[in-house]
Amino acid sequence: MEEVRLLDKNGLRVDGRRLDELRPLKLEVGILDKADGSAYIEHGKNKILAAVYGPREAQPRHIALADRAVLRCRYHMAPFSTEERKSPAPSRRELELSKVIREALEPSIMSEYFPRATIDIFIEVLQADAGTRCAGITAASLALADAGIPMRELVAGCAAGKVEGKVVLDLSDLEDKKGDADLPVAFMPKSNVIGLLQMDGSMTEDEFKQALDMAVDACRRIYEMQREALRQKYHLVKEESEAKEEAPAPEVKQ
Ligand code: ADP
Repeated sequence: MEEVRLLDKNGLRVDGRRLDELRPLKLEVGILDKADGSAYIEHGKNKILAAVYGPREAQPRHIALADRAVLRCRYHMAPFSTEERKSPAPSRRELELSKVIREALEPSIMSEYFPRATIDIFIEVLQADAGTRCAGITAASLALADAGIPMRELVAGCAAGKVEGKVVLDLSDLEDKKGDADLPVAFMPKSNVIGLLQMDGSMTEDEFKQALDMAVDACRRIYEMQREALRQKYHLVKEESEAKEEAPAPEVKQ
């Protein structure tokens, strides 16, 4: 089998990025009318939608908790999100990711304000190119804020890893598959809480520390982009409501 080179002679990666460079990010808030909150993320070639319902009365009632809301999360990859058609049936991987994403978001939500309620998070991966759990967290956190759910702060996600012996930020699918290690991280910058930390492959202790620092630093940058995406949404809402107020009253035909 032909060997794939992941770094060129200048130390640049297959998509031309430097070792510590993020893929391009695009974030949009409030793009679905029917859900209580929603967001869309493009993180490199990943395209992911997140939608939130709630807080609303827990159904079925036996899942309700007396002192806080129950958070539920479903991560799902569309059958057309990968090169080979992915089976639409929920896989073990999707179940695992639903759980770790929920656990990464849980500390950010003031669920104690909503006893006996549920908050539902849906993450739909439309196109996958590695790092979908992190990008899913970034989008879901924005969708929660868009739903008006009281939160301690936003959660941002980004992976680091290792390819050809070098620590790199934000692996693409090829780097994830052919590289040496992947370290997905979710982080809340103000409270300094890491809510997701997983590792695939192997790194030395020093490489691990370097990769973790790199991922946390990237999460801080993504957090600023999330704040900007929320600001954009509310500028738009303000402009629309001002335009409505300023519009002349419709003429009444006699
Ligand atoms: P993450 O997307 O969080 O990095 P993984 O490391 O499990 O999660 O997956 C890496 C990438 O592998 C995914 O983003 C996707 O591009 C690809 N992948 C995952 N599951 C499948 C699948 N069932 N079929 C094809 N490609 C997949």
